Amino acid sequence: MGTTLRQGKEFLMIPGPTNVPDAVLRAMHRPAIDIYEGPLVETTDACLAGLKRLFKTGYPPYIYAANGHGAWDAALSNTLSRGDRILVLESGLFASGWGRAAGMMGLNLDTLPGSWREPVDPSALEDKLRADKGHKIKAILVVQVDTASGVWNDIAALRKAIDAASHPALFMVDTIASLGCVPFHMDDWGVDVALTGSQKGLMCPPGLSFVAGGERARKAHLTADLRTHYMDWSFRDGPIHYQKYCGTPPEHLLFGFKAALDLIFDEGLERVWHRHALLAEASRRAVAVWEKAGAVEFNIVDPRARANSVTVVRTTGWEVEGLRNFTHDVCGVTIGGTIGEMVGQGFRIGHMGHVNAVMLLGTLSAIELGLAKLGKTGTSGGIVAAQDYLAAAL
Ligand SMILES: *Cc1c(COP(=O)(O)O)cnc(C)c1O
Repeated sequence: MGTTLRQGKEFLMIPGPTNVPDAVLRAMHRPAIDIYEGPLVETTDACLAGLKRLFKTGYPPYIYAANGHGAWDAALSNTLSRGDRILVLESGLFASGWGRAAGMMGLNLDTLPGSWREPVDPSALEDKLRADKGHKIKAILVVQVDTASGVWNDIAALRKAIDAASHPALFMVDTIASLGCVPFHMDDWGVDVALTGSQKGLMCPPGLSFVAGGERARKAHLTADLRTHYMDWSFRDGPIHYQKYCGTPPEHLLFGFKAALDLIFDEGLERVWHRHALLAEASRRAVAVWEKAGAVEFNIVDPRARANSVTVVRTTGWEVEGLRNFTHDVCGVTIGGTIGEMVGQGFRIGHMGHVNAVMLLGTLSAIELGLAKLGKTGTSGGIVAAQDYLAAAL
């Protein structure tokens, strides 16, 4: 291998799992403890209280020893019944994946077709719901940010569309790639079920996921027939601490999550959102320069719908592997490849969770260096644009 500059701290700049802060790793490095009383019960209480603040809900959240796919199952099984119709709002990979999971559970799938380059259109949703005169649709599934397409859907606007159609379906939102990165207001926005995972904006190892159901979801729960023992909210509401996890609590992940919550609330949730907004816009300023040079283009066409947690970039027809190999092998930073229908067509810059200016600017520099090495002329200047933006914004 030729000369490399990769000895030093490795950066993982993919859209999940994300960098785990040392404070979170340290919190996990301890012996197992009693699961029936003492510090673990306090940890649970702190985690549940923190989740309410993150989701911005007054309703009780639930913690699952599962990744995000498990949270999808939990949301559906607790609130719906076999044969219910659900509407999936397409805008990338993940709402569709959630819909496929629903299909396997015996739910009937309906889709509002969308593209990988645009957010869900609220007026198309309104039309679709108005046409459902018999209110056959029982739940609407959408993601706030899709990590495959990089889209940022306007959850409040989608709620307004549902209200404009006076449709009673439960509104379910996947915030796995957005909670703790961008504003989310479960109760104020009328979200009936919200879910997220530990390993993206929340800076923890994969393995925990979280679901909260509002009043209408909790009412639907009472008659839902897809309920399972492990996922069941009613069982988890029981009086014994052990029930909250339907078995042995994932202790170490909880210690880590508690430490991550402390980091978020010590910084201040609004400040965390603002940090993400600044770093995301800095990324976009750099990508815009590379786009102008003809080397790449933004996947999401409308600048207002580009996420603050991940930027998805398309190459203009050239092989992306050379670039990703260069940033990894020579510079020590891993950027994401594209997935799903975009596989091989671009790259993804994860800028969510435990990310500061140095990590972001270093990553953009490595990409710009790689573009130069690949002979993409006119691409220098992206870093300067990112810096100029931050200099003005700070
Ligand atoms: C990552 C991601 C998922 C999947 O989460 P897993 O923990 O891998 O199951 C689901 N939805 C969105 C929006 C994601 O970004």
